[in-house]
Amino acid sequence: MNIADSQKTKIVATIGPSSSSSVILKELVKAGVDVFRVNFSHGTHEDHEKVIQRIGKINKELGTYTGILCDLQGPKIRVGDIKEGKINIRPGDQITFTTKACVGTEKKLHITYGSFAKDIKAGEKVLMDDGKVVLKVVSTNKKSSAVLEVVSGTSISSRKGVNLPDSKLTTPSLTKKDEIDLAFILTQPIHWIALSFVRYPKDIINLKKRIAKAKHKAQVIAKIEKPEAIARIEKIIDATDAIMIARGDLGVEVPMEQLPTMQKRIVKLCLEKSRPCIVATQLMEGMINNLFPTRAEILDVANAVLDGTDAVMLSAETAVGKHPVKVVQAMNKIIAEAEKNYDFRGRRPQAVVDSPTYLSDTVCINSGKTANDIGAVGIASVTISGYTAYRVASFRPNCHLFIFSPEVHTLHRLALVWGTKRYYYDKFTTTDGTIEDVVKMLKTRKDVKKGDFLVNTGSMPINKRFRTNFIKITLVE
Ligand code: PGA
Ligand code: MN
Repeated sequence: MNIADSQKTKIVATIGPSSSSSVILKELVKAGVDVFRVNFSHGTHEDHEKVIQRIGKINKELGTYTGILCDLQGPKIRVGDIKEGKINIRPGDQITFTTKACVGTEKKLHITYGSFAKDIKAGEKVLMDDGKVVLKVVSTNKKSSAVLEVVSGTSISSRKGVNLPDSKLTTPSLTKKDEIDLAFILTQPIHWIALSFVRYPKDIINLKKRIAKAKHKAQVIAKIEKPEAIARIEKIIDATDAIMIARGDLGVEVPMEQLPTMQKRIVKLCLEKSRPCIVATQLMEGMINNLFPTRAEILDVANAVLDGTDAVMLSAETAVGKHPVKVVQAMNKIIAEAEKNYDFRGRRPQAVVDSPTYLSDTVCINSGKTANDIGAVGIASVTISGYTAYRVASFRPNCHLFIFSPEVHTLHRLALVWGTKRYYYDKFTTTDGTIEDVVKMLKTRKDVKKGDFLVNTGSMPINKRFRTNFIKITLVE
């Protein structure tokens, strides 16, 4: 087992100009990237397709099951282009915002969101550039333009992001751009689709319907970055397959001091509900330019690990940073050390009696308990859909999860899930035969050795393809 795969917390790395070449992508996989994020806020479909093909090739070459996550931009609002790139502002200045395209000046700025004037009300707050600029709505004609007053900030530059934390937005969760991007994504061999600025469970359900219609196997990640999502977080977690705590926009949309407790609460809910969770944005921001993370960043990564997240994400650090490979190596080191201090007591999920999956959930949870009791090196689970892996992982056992599946897509998708090491297996002759094969494969790869305990889970009789219904203890011979 090399350093990169002994870790349980997964690393998601965003691809960009610093990391899109085959050479760097391969180095990133070797350094410990588990999932690549293709960001549809930037780049062309042609660029994205090339990257997806490169990752496919690398997986074949290295025998890895790296996952691919396509991130839809969603209703991200921006100001348009500004004359000479930037205007200077002072508190008290009044600026007209118009939805009609124009080149921005001190007096008038273009805003890319068509319903801006309709959706805002006098007195509401408008934030720009990650909160560096705060404005207040003075008046709106409810059609195409509104007057805003600067509360704080010194300048506004072209294309800066805008957040409307006070306003109730009428925009659909999938914008026209997202629709076009989604049509492309659904032709690609990718494993996760992230939806930005999720507000309601129906945003997720709608996207899942479209994926199902295209007969694609991708699952959905709800990006939590709006107060509306926080307000109904449990229902959103129920509706989605996975969660991203998108701290970039979330940190602007909610009072910043609430971020730490929000992160902890969401990670805990994800554990309870067996949904993979990603902690995202600015974890290693300093390493965009520097060779080392700051002390605060080291603590941030370690704290996300100790909270129990499935994955931590790198954005600009790997997309446009100077040290894409070094940042992954550094993150891995921090993760490895933090994981020596896991304490999940009191945070482990219970099977819910009236849930349709109560029986198999009980088996999954007890596989974790058994593994901990006997000090097993791993839990070896056979799964087709991946459901068992989600359940077993959310117990956060003290050992590895060896996941065997005949579904290649499942193996890639589970790259996001805490503790999983994944193997292709499609024989399924008898239960005894499968357990024998599994042990043999793990032994050959030196993941287990003579004298180790292993906990096996699976479904009997094997040809019925029931949900997970057995636990067995195996002493490796
Ligand atoms: P983004 O999402 O990078 O697509 O904005 C992440 C975040 O907001 O934290
Ligand atoms: Mn965001």
